[in-house]
Amino acid sequence: MRVCILGGGLSSLTLAKALVNQKIYVDVKVSANSFQSGKSRTIGISKNNLEFFNKYILNIDKITWKLKQIHIFSDNLKKEKLLNFENGKNQLFSILKNYSLYSILEKSLKKNKYFKKIILKRRKNDFESYDIVIVTDYFSLIAKKYFNKKIIKKYNSFAYTTIIEHKNISNDIATQIFTKDGPLAFLPISNNKTSIVYSINNSNIISSERIKDLIQNYNLKYKIKKIGKIESFELKSFNLRSYYNNKFLAFGDLLHKIHPLAGQGFNMTIRDIKIFLDLVKNRVNLGLPIDSSINSEFENKTKHINFIFANGVDLIHEFFNLERKIKNDNISKSIQFLGKNPSINKVFTTLADKGILI
Ligand SMILES: Cc1cc2nc3c(=O)[nH]c(=O)nc-3n(C[C@H](O)[C@H](O)[C@H](O)COP(=O)(O)OP(=O)(O)OC[C@H]3O[C@@H](n4cnc5c(N)ncnc54)[C@H](O)[C@@H]3O)c2cc1C
Repeated sequence: MRVCILGGGLSSLTLAKALVNQKIYVDVKVSANSFQSGKSRTIGISKNNLEFFNKYILNIDKITWKLKQIHIFSDNLKKEKLLNFENGKNQLFSILKNYSLYSILEKSLKKNKYFKKIILKRRKNDFESYDIVIVTDYFSLIAKKYFNKKIIKKYNSFAYTTIIEHKNISNDIATQIFTKDGPLAFLPISNNKTSIVYSINNSNIISSERIKDLIQNYNLKYKIKKIGKIESFELKSFNLRSYYNNKFLAFGDLLHKIHPLAGQGFNMTIRDIKIFLDLVKNRVNLGLPIDSSINSEFENKTKHINFIFANGVDLIHEFFNLERKIKNDNISKSIQFLGKNPSINKVFTTLADKGILI
C-alpha cells in the first residue's frame, strides 16, 4: 500500500519520513513551480517535540541550537522583564534553520527505498491508485476544491525575518519584546548569529532600511556586525472547518496556520504527526489497511485541541494589541504578576512544550 503526500514543504517531508520509518511506501508529489522559503527563516522546536523528532523521525540534533531560557519584555514596562521561562539547566526550545531541516530530511528520504518524489508538470493529477492522499500544498487544485472552508483571520501585519551576525557571546537565551509595532523576537542560532522575527502591525510593507533601524533600536544585547537580507511574510491565521474529504486529508499549514509570535505553527504539525503515527501503528499492528477511515479518527483526536491551541495563541496577540490601542500597561502588569507565580509559569511552559497540560 502507498500513501500519497501532495506538496513538498517541511510538513510533507517530516510526515513522509515518519511513515517510511514504519515501512510504508510514500509518494511525495511536488509541483514543478513549488515555492521554497528563503534562507532567513528559522523554526523553534519545543523540547518535547525535538525528542519525538529525534526518536521517531530523524535525529536532527546536529542542526539545532539549544536555548535554556526565554525572556519576554514589553515596551510598556520599559526595561523591566515581563516573563521569564526556564527549565532548570535543561533546554527549553531549539532553533534551527528551515532550509537545514529541509535538506537533512530530503537527503535521508532520497536514500530510502519506501520513498518516491514525483514532480508534477501541472498541479492537476490522478489519485485513483491511492487509498489516502495527504494534502499540504494549499495552491493545489485539490486544496482549492476540498479545503477552502476555513475560519480565517487577517492580521493586517507582515512578519519580517533576517539573520544578524554579531560578536561572539554565550547565546542561549531567546528574547521577545512586545514593541508598540508588534512582537520582535531574537532567536539565537549560534554564538555569533541570531535569527530575527519581527511581526509588525501594518498592512503596508515596510522598507528593509526601516526594519534594520528598528532592530538596532531594540537590540541591547548584541554587537551587530551585519544584518542579512530582510524577507517578509503576510500574516494570517486559519483553521479548516473540515480536516478531510473522503480519502483526502489536509495537513500542516493547510490545516491550521497561526501567528508566529509563539513559535508554534510547525510544533502543532509535529504534534499532529505524533497522533497520526499512533493511528497508523495501531492499524499496522492489527493488520488493518491505512485507508481513508483513518482521516475521521485523526480529525476526532486533533481538531478540538488544535482549535483551542490556535485560539490561545491568537488571544496572546489580541491582549498585546489591545494594550497598544488603549495605551496603558494594565495587561502587561497582570501578566507579569501571573508569570511570577511558579505554578502558573509552569503551566505556560508546559503548554508551549507539549501543547497540552499533561
Ligand atoms: C515568520 C515565521 C516564523 C515562524 N516561526 C516558527 C517557529 O519558531 N516555530 C514553529 O513551530 N513554527 C514557526 N512558523 C510556522 C512554520 O514556519 C510553518 O508552520 C511551516 O513552515 C509550514 O510548513 P508546511 O510544509 O505546512 O507549509 P509550506 O512550507 O508553506 O508549504 C506547503 C506547500 O505549499 C507550497 N507553497 C507554499 N507557499 C507557496 C507559494 N507562495 N507559491 C506556491 N506554492 C507554495 C509549498 O511548495 C509546499 O509544497 C513560523 C512561520 C513564520 C511565517
